[in-house]
Amino acid sequence: MTQFSDLNLDPKVLKAIAEAGYETPTPIQAGAIPPALEGRDVLGIAQTGTGKTASFVLPMITLLGRGRARARMPRSLVLCPTRELAAQVAENFDTYAKHTKLTKALLIGGVSFKEQDTLIDKGVDVLIATPGRLLDHFERGKLLLTGVQIMVVDEADRMLDMGFIPDIERIFGLTPFTRQTLFFSATMAPEIERITNTFLSNPEKIEVARAATTGENIKQGVVMFRASRKDKEAAEKRDLLRALIDAEGEACTNAIIFCNRKMDVDVVAKSLKKHGYDAEPIHGDLDQSQRTRTLDGFRAGNVKILVASDVAARGLDVPSVSHVFNFDVPSHAEDYVHRIGRTGRAGRKGSAIMICNPRDEKNLEDVERLVQNPIPRLDDPRGAKAPAAAAPATETATEEERPRRSRTRSRSRSRDEAKPEAFADAVATETPKVEARPKQKADVEPAPKAASEPEPRVEAKPAPAPDPAPVLEAAREQAPAEPHRTEPRGNERDRNRGGRDRRRHDQRDEEVVGMGEDTPAFIAKSFEERRAG
Ligand code: AMP
Repeated sequence: MTQFSDLNLDPKVLKAIAEAGYETPTPIQAGAIPPALEGRDVLGIAQTGTGKTASFVLPMITLLGRGRARARMPRSLVLCPTRELAAQVAENFDTYAKHTKLTKALLIGGVSFKEQDTLIDKGVDVLIATPGRLLDHFERGKLLLTGVQIMVVDEADRMLDMGFIPDIERIFGLTPFTRQTLFFSATMAPEIERITNTFLSNPEKIEVARAATTGENIKQGVVMFRASRKDKEAAEKRDLLRALIDAEGEACTNAIIFCNRKMDVDVVAKSLKKHGYDAEPIHGDLDQSQRTRTLDGFRAGNVKILVASDVAARGLDVPSVSHVFNFDVPSHAEDYVHRIGRTGRAGRKGSAIMICNPRDEKNLEDVERLVQNPIPRLDDPRGAKAPAAAAPATETATEEERPRRSRTRSRSRSRDEAKPEAFADAVATETPKVEARPKQKADVEPAPKAASEPEPRVEAKPAPAPDPAPVLEAAREQAPAEPHRTEPRGNERDRNRGGRDRRRHDQRDEEVVGMGEDTPAFIAKSFEERRAG
């Protein structure tokens, strides 16, 4: 088996890797690092969770070891679709470059131009940016890209989803023809293929997992759910969710719960909190500093359950998430792969449990077609107590039958307080007369219009992966129309976009979870400064 020491990396990088606790390179690292160190272009087809970030960061640090940064002319550039992902890449640089004197700057929305200008003026080795912010700096004349020797495009398929491809093409054009390009994408949509054919020169292609497959180390299951009555559906679904969390017991150390709609993210988080679970919501409408705080808390293990929308959780890297719960079957089958990829990272075991309404069965079929496997059906952990199966109005449960407390419950609640309340909702849904407590906001059904408003997606065009393209195409064809899409479809419209549209991207960039006024210290710091400090 390949060892890091076989890869010709700078000894300072090897030291940092050892300190990070990595023993052996992951397949994408073993495949991408050697050609990258030879100066070749690399096309990495890999999802997050495979160790792909280190597969470009480690050779970059080694290659940039010699030479000096010049004012306003970064020596390398990493482009990421979201500020969240860019901040994660920056964190990776901090970790792996800690024994070097390399400097970096992070150009993302929510961080002041002035601070980043100062760093760039001094000269940085590595510039990590979202495309819109980078072009803004460029247009303000603060930046020259003619010194870029290495350019990385990370999560190109997400760039495509977000309509960034025209910006990427423009940025490619601003960098020297002789640059080395390291290009990463989870899938190879035709548009991505076109870009790689145009801008990469005889790349070494490394594919570590087939497009749109789900990790084998992730245990998957779906519970088919039918409400006892339409007007009780939402509350009963939340009751089922709690039962599913509880049924996992100690194994569920932390979890991300995905909802299709922002409104549900809030409602589910509030409801879980009310029932004594340690849950926080995260979606694009929340205040930036709150999002950052929530993410930091989740990473640090202070928040056990993150209730998230797809956009908010995009690119989120928390190495050890034990469980993903899909409160809804995603309406885009590929989102299922991205969602469950938040668990089982770097070879760890993970569980992905989904709830499927009769209404969502069509989406479930699409997911199963995409992953080319049936998702095992799970029993409702409430068994006979499940509201749909329950005799109306009379059914109650003994203390022993109540759901087990799990570690995801907040410690701040007392035992006595948590148990009866946790069950109260279920009782309330079965026997309306037995109101255990006044109805709280969290349990109130969202207004119909808002409830049906999904988190806006920002896809420029459908992007079926070539493998398995027919599967994806079929799924798309059968998918319902999506009036909520905010971006025009089609390559031509993509290409014809000008600066005005890019400003829209920046606004989107603002919406993506990441860093706000509460910018973590690592963003503004250079490696040198940190060493000095
Ligand atoms: P990525 O695919 O870059 O998002 O990385 C996924 C996770 O794997 C990150 O939390 C990394 O810290 C971790 N990781 C990266 N390389 C290795 C390695 N060689 N061994 C163990 N963990 C790794």
